[in-house]
Amino acid sequence: MTLLPHALPTYDDVAEAAYRLKGMAHHTPVLRSSTADAQMGAQVFFKCENLQRTGAFKFRGAFNTLAQFSDAQRRGGVLAFSAGNHAQAIALAAQLLDMPAAIVMPEDAPASKMAATRGYGAQVVTYNRYTEDREAISRRLAQERGMTLVPPFDHAQVIAGQGTAAKELFEEVPDLDYLFVCLGGGGLMAGSLLAARTLAPQCKVVGVEPEAGNDAQQSLRAGHIVRIDTPRTIADGAQTQALGELTFPIIAAHAEDIVTVSDAQLMQALRFFAERMKTVVEPTGALAWAGACHGGLDLRGARVGVVVSGGNVDLSRYARFLAD
Ligand SMILES: *Cc1c(COP(=O)(O)O)cnc(C)c1O
Repeated sequence: MTLLPHALPTYDDVAEAAYRLKGMAHHTPVLRSSTADAQMGAQVFFKCENLQRTGAFKFRGAFNTLAQFSDAQRRGGVLAFSAGNHAQAIALAAQLLDMPAAIVMPEDAPASKMAATRGYGAQVVTYNRYTEDREAISRRLAQERGMTLVPPFDHAQVIAGQGTAAKELFEEVPDLDYLFVCLGGGGLMAGSLLAARTLAPQCKVVGVEPEAGNDAQQSLRAGHIVRIDTPRTIADGAQTQALGELTFPIIAAHAEDIVTVSDAQLMQALRFFAERMKTVVEPTGALAWAGACHGGLDLRGARVGVVVSGGNVDLSRYARFLAD
């Protein structure tokens, strides 16, 4: 069945997404670290979406959404605005499904990201982020070209796709007591909560945000969506200003809590992944682990899942983080 973009997704939609993604997305590994276990006095299970296709979980939501396009939508193709991991995810999913894709990016976006997006066959349309409104440009382009706009998180099929990472983890590692998930707009967290509610109802799902951008924590406490100014943080995938109309109600209903971490704690987590686990993680991808370490929850004796959400980071920037 086709799920409407504005309907609230359920666990069944996550299960259907998993079926669609079979053979298309990687079933990413779950890594362990005796250092992490000893440090926490717990058993820690890292779900490594930094090893997903295009380097982040976003491929799951993108492919699940594009695979449900009608024939007419396929012919018109897909449009997205993003300077980050959503761009590459949409570009690759479109290439695999043989449809045109256009990605709207600021003209000063990193050259490596533009090149990667073009490398997957998408057209990159640039705009000036100081003088032009990307949403207006995207809407106009979508209309002129008959393309379908796919947003990065506030979309039922995107949320359902993102939930498949946690579904894999719960199926592989039973009896988790906690799951730590980072959040920006909350697509990954909402999808993870849908998976948890059915597959591991006893598991407490904790969201992790940058300290400077704690809009989700404020929203949870206030009981409505709180909007903030674009936060300053090295976690560029979590620089969102607000949760979405679909992600908020799911998170408000089912999240255990939302905790925050500082940029210094994120850098410490990056170094842990590099030094101890030999794996490259981007700052946003390290949020969940930093939250498990510094979020103030007593995890001794617990079985703890940690979603490592992505690994796309400019190497010179990464080197600076490791050296600091
Ligand atoms: C997009 C992204 C996030 C945030 O995901 P939301 O669904 O917006 O909460 C976290 N980490 C990485 C690596 C991302 O690309």
